[in-house]
Amino acid sequence: MEDYTMKFTVLGARGSAPVGGEGFNKYGGNTSCYMIECGNEQIFLDAGTGIMKAPYKQDANITVLLTHLHIDHLIGFPFFKPLFFKEKRVKIYSVKRENGLLKDQLNGLFKPPFWPLRIDEYRANIDYIEPVFPFKIGDVEVDGIEGNHPGGSTIFKLTRNGKVIVCMTDYEHTKEGFPQELIDFVKGADILLYDAQYKNDDYEAHKGFGHSTPEKGLEFKRLTGVKNMFFVHHDPYYDDEMLDSLEAVLNDPNVHYAKYKDVILL
Ligand SMILES: [Zn+2]
Ligand SMILES: [Zn+2]
Repeated sequence: MEDYTMKFTVLGARGSAPVGGEGFNKYGGNTSCYMIECGNEQIFLDAGTGIMKAPYKQDANITVLLTHLHIDHLIGFPFFKPLFFKEKRVKIYSVKRENGLLKDQLNGLFKPPFWPLRIDEYRANIDYIEPVFPFKIGDVEVDGIEGNHPGGSTIFKLTRNGKVIVCMTDYEHTKEGFPQELIDFVKGADILLYDAQYKNDDYEAHKGFGHSTPEKGLEFKRLTGVKNMFFVHHDPYYDDEMLDSLEAVLNDPNVHYAKYKDVILL
């Protein structure tokens, strides 16, 4: 019997592009992927390069929730181990935004000349699902609302036995402030992933790119009272030293820049 309600693991918290090598070992260079495990469910938020080395369980039900289809959130998907097994079923959920079906959109990215195989040609059975919120994965309730990001991005909320995880990657605050609907949606979460890609002095040059700042993250934490906050979507140019220095000034023991293999048991 598990002694937790949900197990949360960071597999990739880098934004925009994967990075590696000296200066990137502490926080990690894999792009967006977070794993939630409970009961017989293995749920992945996003399929960036972090999903490539996911500790995949042969017998688990596999679900992938895609916040949106920007390439940093998808680039690990063709390497996702369950896709290589004939008897495996993989459920992919992504909100419909642009014209076309999710299946066609994914197959449009992974096809020659960009990639030798179409997603369709992998051995696993893949279900392409455009979700209507809320829905259930086993006994995990999944809710979602749209975040402010070019082309859109889903803010997913996973709830099981009163424990709550919210993923708010690829979100940019607005000058009007955080909408009440969003504050209510996130309020009291046990874990919130918040996009803090740009420090304040870099933000000005990247306004409208769809990412936020640590200062805005702390403001949002005060508004929502979340218990643990992870800053995510680290800028690919920010090395360990830079992220250490940004974390040091936060002055809040419950706010951290997410590191590869961070685990929280709820
Ligand atoms: Zn991104
Ligand atoms: Zn994006």
